[in-house]
Amino acid sequence: MKMRETRQIKAGKLLIGGGAPVSVQSMTKTDTSDIQSTVAQIKTLEAAGCELVRCAVPDEKAAKAIKEIKKRVRIPVAADIHFNYKLALLAIDNGADKIRINPGNIGDDWKVKEIIAAAKAACIPVRIGVNAGSLEKYALKKRGENSLVVARKMVKKAASFVRFFEKNRFYDIVLSLKASDTLTSIQAYTLMAKECTYPFHIGITEAGTAAGGTIKSAVGLGILLNSGIGDTLRVSLASDPVDEIRVGYEILKTLKLRKKGVDLVVCPTCGRCGVKLFPVAEEIERRVADIKKPLKLAVMGCVVNGPGEAAEADLGLACGQGSGIIFKDGKVLRKVSEKMMVDEFMKEVKKL
Ligand code: SF4
Repeated sequence: MKMRETRQIKAGKLLIGGGAPVSVQSMTKTDTSDIQSTVAQIKTLEAAGCELVRCAVPDEKAAKAIKEIKKRVRIPVAADIHFNYKLALLAIDNGADKIRINPGNIGDDWKVKEIIAAAKAACIPVRIGVNAGSLEKYALKKRGENSLVVARKMVKKAASFVRFFEKNRFYDIVLSLKASDTLTSIQAYTLMAKECTYPFHIGITEAGTAAGGTIKSAVGLGILLNSGIGDTLRVSLASDPVDEIRVGYEILKTLKLRKKGVDLVVCPTCGRCGVKLFPVAEEIERRVADIKKPLKLAVMGCVVNGPGEAAEADLGLACGQGSGIIFKDGKVLRKVSEKMMVDEFMKEVKKL
């Protein structure tokens, strides 16, 4: 897969675009001014592999909290600002590694210029986020309007913002053109990719709950990434933000864009399965969740496809009637009872 060639920007230590690995980010769901809760959530995100975290900055207290939050976490912190340019300036003053604004709701040009000047002085990038839902009234989707028309409006808006930033000699830009409608997002990013070489933050905004949102995001981001579009991503789920990170990596691992953690192959089971496979697979999934090393593990329900898939994996478990066979690098290691299956399998995982 050939990724789109883009400029490279840097948020804290994280490189975005220009050949850097597609990064996975999330957003805290705590009140940013509640420093303790926000830091705790960022730490769980870090442990899950989050590479940049965004915090909502709706007021002065939240902007000032960035300073203390930054001292206690390792990953770069982006400040998400709407409407009030002064909050962007304050967040930059307090050490934000990146700012996300929609210039359309900041107001007068001079206010956006002040943000540009402050970001330039602090050497931090700005994400210009154009959301389908936050286009100005005249540009908002009208009933019955198709996704391509909305996508074109988003691109026109984003291109005008980019020109404004460039006119003010600011080029450390990341762009996002998100819509809750997957096709609109795909079309907007695809059209914008022809217009510029700035890196893209991709996502399907307000995608939905853990189940529905995961599917929407996987389809939308999968199509974009498979066309080489996307430099950093966020999966927006109405769920624990750690789920956003897991899904983000699953999408990237599926497309072989990142190698991280366990790729768990599990058969869906059928009438041939001789063990209760779901609890076995779920328990293994739970126990391998923290593993960072790229490993392919297979948990299969019977001897039809079991040995074949299990042999393909770094480590495999092919179940029979009340028992299982552990495979390593394609060779049978040993037979284990159903009761001991998970523990014995995990012993071998740990050795890897
Ligand atoms: Fe059925 Fe066996 Fe295939 Fe699983 S591996 S779906 S149990 S045939």
